Amino acid sequence: MNQTKKCIHQTNKYSANNYHPLPLVVSKAQGSWVYDVDGHKYLDMLSSYSALNHGHRHPKIIQALKDQADRVTLTSRAFHHDQMGSFLEKLCTLSGFDRALPMNSGTEAVETALKAARKWGYDVKGIPEGKAEIIAAENNFSGRSIGVLSMSTGKLATEGFGPYAPGFPTVPFGDAKAIEEAITENTAAVILEPIQGEGGVVVPPEGYLKEVREITKKHNLLLIIDEVQTGFGRTGKLYCYQHEDIQPDIVILGKALGGGVYPVSAILADEGVMDVFVPGNHGSTFGGNPLAARVAYTALEVLMEEGLIERSEELGAYFMKTLKAMDSPVIEDIRGKGLMVGVEIKEAAGTGRDFSEKLMELGVLVKDTKAQTLRFAPPLNISKEDLDWGIDRMKMGFRG
Ligand SMILES: *Cc1c(COP(=O)(O)O)cnc(C)c1O
Repeated sequence: MNQTKKCIHQTNKYSANNYHPLPLVVSKAQGSWVYDVDGHKYLDMLSSYSALNHGHRHPKIIQALKDQADRVTLTSRAFHHDQMGSFLEKLCTLSGFDRALPMNSGTEAVETALKAARKWGYDVKGIPEGKAEIIAAENNFSGRSIGVLSMSTGKLATEGFGPYAPGFPTVPFGDAKAIEEAITENTAAVILEPIQGEGGVVVPPEGYLKEVREITKKHNLLLIIDEVQTGFGRTGKLYCYQHEDIQPDIVILGKALGGGVYPVSAILADEGVMDVFVPGNHGSTFGGNPLAARVAYTALEVLMEEGLIERSEELGAYFMKTLKAMDSPVIEDIRGKGLMVGVEIKEAAGTGRDFSEKLMELGVLVKDTKAQTLRFAPPLNISKEDLDWGIDRMKMGFRG
């Protein structure tokens, strides 16, 4: 038995069956490349769903992790530590918000945003206790907790895990009028992904976020934007909502904030919203720990120093143009922004899974999201040569 088979057998024997990974076993990675236990090399065009915007093991981020590991890693929030202030200041000034609240996973940051919005609804807007509603979009993905699933519409993710929390009406994604019609006197907020990532790289019509921003202002509602997947340059702007020149009330961050090495998440808000929290309302033992703060600070530094946002815009436009020029008989649709690109496969040609396995054999790693869509999200610092190598392989895979 080769190493790959051995590792997969051992993993499957002891793990829960909640994932269906591609059949490769990674043991090493650097930049845009990963290596498996049997010595094969692959181009990573998934980047852990955008958590690896900086590529694998960026030297400066790894150094920060090591340096901080040698000083102090955890204090809990019972004490202050010397990395917190600089991290929060950098995140807030870069993003144009007054305050940030750090957590660990994206899901926790979403929960944090929902709690902030509900509390704002009661304390500031005057919604009667226990009645606050937050409008979400159908086909959303914001995590797997019971709170987050309370606004989900996907059957596979939600069936069998109820009962759910009330107060999360859903409306079709991309339809601003539907949001306005769903508003009641108890609505506190609207929560949206600027592009639905897990939902199949669904790009809403141009002007959607702008219109939703006007509606939420008019009705005194908070606008919460989930940038966990789209943030930190993925779509060619620091945050995807900046394509429409709006300012949300709460922004949810995760994935690439941890520089590909450590789980770090956060929400951003201005004082009027963030100050609804008082000691005892909310928290996390590991949230904003010294290691997380130092790593995230460095990840933000690298993002700006290396011009990764501009790279994403340029390479993304090139990638999209090249894909369209392939004129492949198996491709139904190509969509996205920056280096977040969805390729929808024609049903007659096979499933997304079939094509992700085929591309893996050709040395390109990508994963299906929804049955027919492949999501391409290479590291933002991928070299043009490596991207071209990947595109050549894709040409073979999409020949039909
Ligand atoms: C991945 C993701 C989350 C959840 O993040 P986790 O770190 O997996 O908990 C939330 N929202 C969006 C848009 C995501 O893509």
